[in-house]
Amino acid sequence: MSGIVILGAGYAGLAAALELDRHGIPFTLVNREPYHTFKTLLHEVAGARHDPHTYALSLKELFHHPTSEIVIAEVKRLHLSDKLVETDHGKLAYDTLIVALGSRTATFGLPGVAEHTFRLDSLRAAMELHHHVEREIERYQQTANPIHLRVLVAGGGLTGVELMGEWADWLPKRLRERRLPLEDLRLGLIHAHAEILPDVDHELRAVAQAKLVERGVELILNERVAGAEPQAYRLASGKRLEAGTLVWTGGVEAPDLLKEAGLPVDARNRVDVNEFLMARGADQVYVVGDCARFTDAHGHVLPPTGQVAEQMGHHLGANLVRSAHGRPPLPFVYHDHGMVASLGPRYGVAEIGRHHATGATALVLKDGSKMKYLMHLGGPVTLLKRYRQWLEI
Ligand SMILES: Cc1cc2nc3c(=O)[nH]c(=O)nc-3n(C[C@H](O)[C@H](O)[C@H](O)COP(=O)(O)OP(=O)(O)OC[C@H]3O[C@@H](n4cnc5c(N)ncnc54)[C@H](O)[C@@H]3O)c2cc1C
Repeated sequence: MSGIVILGAGYAGLAAALELDRHGIPFTLVNREPYHTFKTLLHEVAGARHDPHTYALSLKELFHHPTSEIVIAEVKRLHLSDKLVETDHGKLAYDTLIVALGSRTATFGLPGVAEHTFRLDSLRAAMELHHHVEREIERYQQTANPIHLRVLVAGGGLTGVELMGEWADWLPKRLRERRLPLEDLRLGLIHAHAEILPDVDHELRAVAQAKLVERGVELILNERVAGAEPQAYRLASGKRLEAGTLVWTGGVEAPDLLKEAGLPVDARNRVDVNEFLMARGADQVYVVGDCARFTDAHGHVLPPTGQVAEQMGHHLGANLVRSAHGRPPLPFVYHDHGMVASLGPRYGVAEIGRHHATGATALVLKDGSKMKYLMHLGGPVTLLKRYRQWLEI
């Protein structure tokens, strides 16, 4: 069967699919899991804020037209010259291909990092990380060895900071529940530069840093990770830091299969796309979300964020609807709606244009964007079902 094939049901692929579904345009959506993951909230899963199932939305719930088909499979290879996608469940032919396979954590070949550290890039990974920390608490109770209560997160970007913020709240609470002392708990955030959160204004970075320190997080700044061993990070400065839990959030890269298919990629495997989000030099292949390298009118490459991914997917879907009605495509223009970083369930920092918000106000903005996203995905029913659980009402 040919037609539009969308690879990946993350923020980008799903936004494109929903736009096509709304207009009754047929497509096939391929994803490795039968659900969409709220990836921007995975730190909440690692900190056991709510049941992990509330961070996964069944794809079946979202599409209503019989024109769409969902295929749960692993994409293995793209055969662009034959217009075929190879999956672990067979081959799919396409006329138009949308690649929205997201990204995975990049380890940049640092020795031992892939083997000895945890990542936070999928629901499964977040659950594994959470279970590991619970096991470490158990081991501490049995052995009293403080290494089991030491946690090191490498990478002071959004992922690392939100995870640390979550754990700075959850871990002391968990130890108190288990009637364990807090003195041996050590939380460390390693970052290669002088300030964390490179994508927000200097003033907000200072607020976020002060808040983490106030809650007992040690900021290990201007230090680069040189490698990892079982239960230790080695730093370029020669230091060796031991911890029972090592997490790596040092950056992301797109999957290898894009490069292997001959698409034009950068050092992070992102495919160079034009103003219509079409891969340069490839016929009827669009790339959106973390997989895409899009350069805006000011020469800036857009960052790999959920916000960019969703806008790209939505725009591409709308362009394909236009094309089905014989209208020309419109160029993609990104609108920055700001950024909110949560530092646990009770505090956050937000930057909306030139305006800043901190504390509970920032979290209200984050809740607002969660609600908007749910409303967009599934309308008021999905919003109510999910949001009730997140608000614990
Ligand atoms: C902890 C954390 C916090 C974050 N916070 C924010 C935030 O506050 N704001 C923000 O804007 N961004 C945030 N991000 C970044 C954001 O999550 C990503 O930029 C966004 O998910 C990218 O969307 P995407 O559609 O490109 O890819 P994804 O959302 O990763 O979706 C890709 C989809 O493709 C599927 N897939 C991948 N490979 C295959 C394959 N081979 N076969 C079949 N299926 C496959 C995956 O299962 C997935 O469903 C955060 C990320 C993390 C990890």
